[in-house]
Amino acid sequence: MKMKMKRCKSCGEYTLKNECPYCGGEVGVVYPAKYSPEDKYGKYRRMLKKQLLENKGMI
Ligand SMILES: [Zn+2]
Repeated sequence: MKMKMKRCKSCGEYTLKNECPYCGGEVGVVYPAKYSPEDKYGKYRRMLKKQLLENKGMI
């Protein structure tokens, strides 16, 4: 699969087009790599959020 997933820098929607179909904003290529420059800490934020939920007795 050679399609490059892109993500709008304005609204954060994913697209394959060269501009956002939702807001017309600028898009950036999303690499399936470990380090995405704009979402560097997103993984950790989600992990922390999950831990918070678990600490509140959700499990
Ligand atoms: Zn957009």
